[in-house]
Amino acid sequence: MNPVADELHAQLQTLVGREIGPFHSWDAVNEPMVRHWCEAMGIDNPVYLDERAARASRHGALVAPPTMLQVWSMNGLGGNIPPGSTTENAYRVLEQIQAAGFPAIVAVNSEQEYLRYLRPGDRLHRSSQIEAVSPRKETALGVGYFVTELIRFFDQRDELVGTMRFRLFIYRAHAQAQTPPPAKPQRPRPGISPDTQFFWDGLKQRQLLIQRCEDCGRLRHPPGPACPHCHSLRWNTVAASGRATLFSFVVSHHPQLPSLPHPNPIGLIELEEGTRLVAGLVDVAPEAVVIGMPLTLDFIEDGDLVLPVFRPAR
Ligand code: ZN
Repeated sequence: MNPVADELHAQLQTLVGREIGPFHSWDAVNEPMVRHWCEAMGIDNPVYLDERAARASRHGALVAPPTMLQVWSMNGLGGNIPPGSTTENAYRVLEQIQAAGFPAIVAVNSEQEYLRYLRPGDRLHRSSQIEAVSPRKETALGVGYFVTELIRFFDQRDELVGTMRFRLFIYRAHAQAQTPPPAKPQRPRPGISPDTQFFWDGLKQRQLLIQRCEDCGRLRHPPGPACPHCHSLRWNTVAASGRATLFSFVVSHHPQLPSLPHPNPIGLIELEEGTRLVAGLVDVAPEAVVIGMPLTLDFIEDGDLVLPVFRPAR
């Protein structure tokens, strides 16, 4: 254990458990704020909103939603605290941890406890105490301290009406790993199965292989285990000559993957052997692509992947 960390933890303990307050509320519990809050939260419970229905309920009158507990004593938007409140700093623990080199804060969780329903006209004040500071902890986010603040809410008769425990983690983020220079983005990888392995292996040898039925001799593409004509499972391959024509095409504009050119002309290529395949068209402007144009096979590399592409034949 780091002795510096121990020292800070020990030092913080002197601030733990001290109740600081009161912090007064700007407004009493009131119907307009309840109505706004219920509308924002999508709540239409009549005991909060309809005086007649509330009177007929077990509450006997309107009540405020318990989960609005914290609402009633929030500081103003600019951090303004109502007059008569303590001016003591309730957050010295947080400031000391941050000053010791743990600048980041993340809220961990919050638990509320309600002792009674609040009603319009109730006027709350609250106190704050740092209930606990954990020893220094290592987490996925970084290294730091868990701090639990206990806020106690009292009414105009100084009776406790609810509590809130709010946990924070105050930490120093782990040093970022040295980021390697961005790799050239790779094209999407094909799904390669035992039935198509030969095709991709052939490309690595700079051959465009076409599957051929050993029984009826017909060629087929895309690859498959059985001949669609005679259902034979026996097959071998022939290498395409590379002479082809353009049967059809699209020019892809979206999505614009960083690994691909765009606009990206993609052809349905008819090989002179008779089978067709989909492949990229290169060395041709998208507007110059014409169905029936003669093409010739080439190969491009993308990492360990070799792909067939077709360019206009000379
Ligand atoms: Zn066959």
